[in-house]
Amino acid sequence: MMNCPKCSHAAHTRSSVVLSENTKERYNQCQNINCGCTFKSLETVTDIIMCPGRVNPVPPHPALPVEAPKHPKANSGSNPLRRVF
Ligand SMILES: [Zn+2]
Repeated sequence: MMNCPKCSHAAHTRSSVVLSENTKERYNQCQNINCGCTFKSLETVTDIIMCPGRVNPVPPHPALPVEAPKHPKANSGSNPLRRVF
């Protein structure tokens, strides 16, 4: 949200378009009924204050088969869907 450059009232964005990876252009309209100024603005990333740490990517683990219980009543206290490693 920006303020009107003519009367300083709040202005709403009517539309916007991304111009580059770090810049967006907006068309704005003043909400003061006695002004109604429309104007363009640019929003630009000028600096990154804190960047997340570098990630050393790894592939996902393969899906493991799920072992079905052989004797469901005998294993009632254990997890019947335990994984086999
Ligand atoms: Zn205005």
